[in-house]
Amino acid sequence: MAPPLAFEEAWDFVYGVPAGAASADRKAVAPEVRAECTISEVPALCILRKHPQGTRTLTFAEEVWRKHHVAVGQLPPEWMDGGYRGKIELKPQFAEASDARQLPWILAAMDAQRTFRDAVTAKLGVAPRPFSGLPSHLRFFVSVGRTTPAAMAIVLASTDQFYWNLHGSLHRDAKSVTETVIHEAFHLEDDHHGGWSLRALTATHAKILAQCSGKSATARDACLAPFAPGRTRVRGGTFYAFHGGNDAREYGAELAVRFFEEALAAPPSPWKCATAENSYAWGAFVTEFWSGKDPLPACLTSSSGVPAP
Ligand SMILES: [Zn+2]
Repeated sequence: MAPPLAFEEAWDFVYGVPAGAASADRKAVAPEVRAECTISEVPALCILRKHPQGTRTLTFAEEVWRKHHVAVGQLPPEWMDGGYRGKIELKPQFAEASDARQLPWILAAMDAQRTFRDAVTAKLGVAPRPFSGLPSHLRFFVSVGRTTPAAMAIVLASTDQFYWNLHGSLHRDAKSVTETVIHEAFHLEDDHHGGWSLRALTATHAKILAQCSGKSATARDACLAPFAPGRTRVRGGTFYAFHGGNDAREYGAELAVRFFEEALAAPPSPWKCATAENSYAWGAFVTEFWSGKDPLPACLTSSSGVPAP
């Protein structure tokens, strides 16, 4: 858990004030807010209470702090280089209108992540370290005229931050929001493991892409399907893990979503058993994050040496 923000930091966090902003760009802090919130152990929450950004945001922020010690604020405005998505304008915003339906889904997803990691820990007798599984800070934003990126995750000065797009096209129901939370949490965890996915999965990711290259879009998609850890797709494109411009970090994040789905479910046809590449990636994942203890039984191996479902 990250230490509570100092008051001035918390003020900027809640209002989405850019780092290094001139004092003229800052809202004036009312003396009573400064007096009361400075002594609070959770300045960001205190500031939200004093200057409510709407009851839904405040209720959510209270709950998510009480249950998971996640502080709620806004992303400063910025023009983001979205790679294959082009330049995207991001603006701070809290959820109060129709997008507020995402708030209980986010909370439920965090509950699910916590419960899942506790249950896998109990089953395997090992706990993943050093990452807790959840961010310390959640910053809301919207993308102007766009529905991507749905979310981002970044380790920043020893804090674990989620940036959440209230206009994100993926946030259409509770299940999708849970997948996004698990996906983004993996990026934080990956960072805490020194960028494991690029080290461990780049060769496998490249091999899969090479195997399916030179085909029509439909044939390529069908070729990639057994290797895809997640169902998320780029609109008009293929599986997110294999979309052009996405590297092994996204493959790893989708693998984390698959682990979340299957580790305790004991599926009859586990993803890891579908191809040799899947088997390798799954094994590397449990080795890195769960001390090599696989919650699923070994795959039956066919005579060809490829793990059989
Ligand atoms: Zn990602």
